[in-house]
Amino acid sequence: MKRLLIALAITLPLVAQIPSPSQSLGLEIGKDRVLADYKQIRSYFRTLDAASPRVEVEVLGKTTLGEEMIMAVISSEENLRNKARIQEIGKRLADPRGLSDAEAERLVREGKSVVLVTCNIHSSEIASSQMAMEWAHALATANDAETKRRLDNVVLLLVPSLNPDGQQMITDYYRKYVGTDYDGGRLPWLYHHYVGHDNNRDWYMLTQVETRNLNRAVYHQWNPQLFVDEHQMGSEGPRMFIPPFADPVDPDVHPLIWREVNMVGANMAFRLEQANKSGLIYGYSFDAYWLGGTRNTGWWKNVTGLLLEVASARIASPVYIEPNELRGGSKGLVDYKATVNHPNPWKGGWWRMRDIMDYERIASDALLELAADRRQDLLRNLLVRARAAVAHAEPGQAYRIPRDQRDWPTAQHLAWLMAEHNVEVRQAANGDYWIPLAQPYSKFVLEMMEPQRYPEVRLQPGRDILRPYDVATWTLPLQMGVRVEKAALPQGTTRVTDIKPETKEVIARGAKLARKPRVATYKPWQPSMDEGWTRWLLDTYGIPVKGLSPQDVQKGLSGFDAVILPDVHKDILATGRRKDAPMRYEEALPPEYRGALDKAGAAALRKFVEDGGTLIAFGDACEYVIEELNVPVRNALAGVKPEDYTNPGSLVRLRIRPDHPVTQGMPSETAAFLDSPLAFDTTAPAANMQRWVLASYPEDEEDILLSGWIDGGERLTRKAAAVALTYGKGKVVLFGFRPQHRGQTHATFPLVFNALWWSVSAP
Ligand SMILES: [Zn+2]
Repeated sequence: MKRLLIALAITLPLVAQIPSPSQSLGLEIGKDRVLADYKQIRSYFRTLDAASPRVEVEVLGKTTLGEEMIMAVISSEENLRNKARIQEIGKRLADPRGLSDAEAERLVREGKSVVLVTCNIHSSEIASSQMAMEWAHALATANDAETKRRLDNVVLLLVPSLNPDGQQMITDYYRKYVGTDYDGGRLPWLYHHYVGHDNNRDWYMLTQVETRNLNRAVYHQWNPQLFVDEHQMGSEGPRMFIPPFADPVDPDVHPLIWREVNMVGANMAFRLEQANKSGLIYGYSFDAYWLGGTRNTGWWKNVTGLLLEVASARIASPVYIEPNELRGGSKGLVDYKATVNHPNPWKGGWWRMRDIMDYERIASDALLELAADRRQDLLRNLLVRARAAVAHAEPGQAYRIPRDQRDWPTAQHLAWLMAEHNVEVRQAANGDYWIPLAQPYSKFVLEMMEPQRYPEVRLQPGRDILRPYDVATWTLPLQMGVRVEKAALPQGTTRVTDIKPETKEVIARGAKLARKPRVATYKPWQPSMDEGWTRWLLDTYGIPVKGLSPQDVQKGLSGFDAVILPDVHKDILATGRRKDAPMRYEEALPPEYRGALDKAGAAALRKFVEDGGTLIAFGDACEYVIEELNVPVRNALAGVKPEDYTNPGSLVRLRIRPDHPVTQGMPSETAAFLDSPLAFDTTAPAANMQRWVLASYPEDEEDILLSGWIDGGERLTRKAAAVALTYGKGKVVLFGFRPQHRGQTHATFPLVFNALWWSVSAP
């Protein structure tokens, strides 16, 4: 290898000055079973920064585990010298209030297309983190006229990994087991310290530092016009999804967003097909309605966002797909065959990380090509969308977050969140926050503040409606339990950008407890994002918590006051595999990561409660508790068919019992996030037990749904949503909804904290 490097240095001095990632790292990037880890990727981009006048590395911030999160800025030497001016133009066009037409047109002519590409937010979808190095190297070294033209017109912001901690975890695990029976197998824990795959559900709530780091670069610093997020999907369907997106579409998003999405997507598919890449699909699976993903949130903030999804290998190990294993079964491709949105199906065979990198690279280059071709259009369209958002708003109208309300610290948190999004937030002398509607992000503000009504789209007369991709709601005032009202913006408010929420009442109350609860959550080897969110919640509010493996639980729980079973299916808790799984086959994990609660774990949990512990179950885990502990509760929706009841995740109204420690400080009514088919019937217990219905659904179906979409909601009427019980010397609390869902449901956080406080109090 060394000799080769010397030879190259003699014959090709330019290349030697700017080494390729393979040369620089001493690894053959893109080869089967070879991966660069995050530390190597970061160091390679530092090498490029030092060697090339076309590459500059910006530090976005620190990750959850303290790693440096980077973004490469790649453009012509001249553009990089003018970085500040290019950012200034982007900012001015993104918020064009007060800008004359003539000045705007001058800026459009002077400005550059700013294009953001983010890789590898989902850590097992790893090819893009490797592709990013090769792409950056090619852009840094190319001397052809076309590449130079692109770099003269475009500033590329390239994030090689949006989750560096997870990239490192996946690479370490992969290297440990490569060449063994577990080669390319899945990680037995989350690929982010807290949230795993849900890191791409966080882009309006900004709970994670990685999300906030990128959010600042996008909406406070660079204001890109195009944003492409590179993912991977399953191995047995189409090779690559490239927008246009699938239905439904949110009619509030400016239509120029969809026109630009489709134009960029069409150019990508065109270049891929020219290069003989088969298996491209559009109008598939991923919709134009859901708000939570990286680039999606941008649609409401006037940024054109695209998602790319390439079929996966087994991390860096190749996979062979038999033709009969190729299948449809998703929205937009019911059967695996040629259709207008999938005209050239892939025929099966070997599929490797190198293939994924090649598809991604062609699409990424096609993005730069289009961004260079359409530079002025992209800048002008951003201006058009921002102006339309301002003009669309009712003049003088605003959202008021009154100082006088039940939970002021959470109201402050909402104001902080909006300011973090670079939404204009103002404050009056009496402390009220005001969010004026006539601002460039008005569509985003409306989307976050108002209830959602899912658009019911049918693709053929009489057929079923298209189901939501993810949850069907995100209304912040409801989720957070904050009173917000529309009113006329008063005189004399001032813009605020630095808001520091005070301590929540329930946390302040907990700080005064005589004894702090010793808390554990159950951490199955089938990683649970809800478990991660639970740890995130407790860490964030300063409550120490320990994650327990199945083996830890089986050893006994005498050292804890409260144990939380996160929202995990009862079969996964009991045995580690679902009885209703479509395929019985399941890959084995290494021996140290096997097992579930089994009989010994169930017995340990029962003993823990009988001896005085408090067992708290979220969502699906309630069914496990109902089965394993003899409690006078049943799930009235157990076994309900999807045609009789469907709820992808909506906000529902709960009536709260006032006189119980777990409901202390709660209002008489709250919004709660419900997704699983769970609603309780209770019955009067024997004399050795007490039970309290803590929360229940209204009697009238009309009163239940607050935001989102539920089919068959009448089945919830008069049912219990949360139940507390005594059990031996201990206690059980069942939350049939998700009280800490994705760190968003501040309205129901107090129920979780109160249940923990209850664990160290008398029943
Ligand atoms: Zn993904």
